[in-house]
Amino acid sequence: MERSLCYYGNPILRQKANKIEKITPEIRQLAADLIDTMIVHHGVGLAAPQIGVALRMYVFRDEKTQPDGMVVLGEPHVVINPVLSSPSKHTDSVLEGCLSIPGIRVHVTRPTSIQICYQTLEDKKIDCRLEGFLARVNMHENDHLNGTLHVDRIDSEDRKYVARLLHKFKK
Ligand code: ZN
Repeated sequence: MERSLCYYGNPILRQKANKIEKITPEIRQLAADLIDTMIVHHGVGLAAPQIGVALRMYVFRDEKTQPDGMVVLGEPHVVINPVLSSPSKHTDSVLEGCLSIPGIRVHVTRPTSIQICYQTLEDKKIDCRLEGFLARVNMHENDHLNGTLHVDRIDSEDRKYVARLLHKFKK
């Protein structure tokens, strides 16, 4: 079921989300709702706080460029209680958007790869290394679980322009 999005200025986006202790039917429903809401809004990732739930869960999907240049989105994945570690020293700066701050795309510098350990909805433990687009999406969504937004991490040249836009956004 699609749920309504929480937007910039909503205090839930600034909270640290709580650990999920047990996979209950409510948790499964939350995952399904996150996926539905992400798809409706054409997102590549969505975290529970963005639909008003302060729990450590997000969903994401991969983006693949086909030989003809068409970009297609892959199957959604559910991530529970993620722990990110060992970021690469190498970083890059890429434009990011966020469903909670529509219309504002900013350059964010992040490591190009990172280690992630998380639980699945089936209560399996996944431990793997993510690179490129997937690393970036997971870092962006994981930030949401800690009350951090991409506009907190923007490169200095974008800062003035974003401050003006955010000021308008709050009105
Ligand atoms: Zn976001």
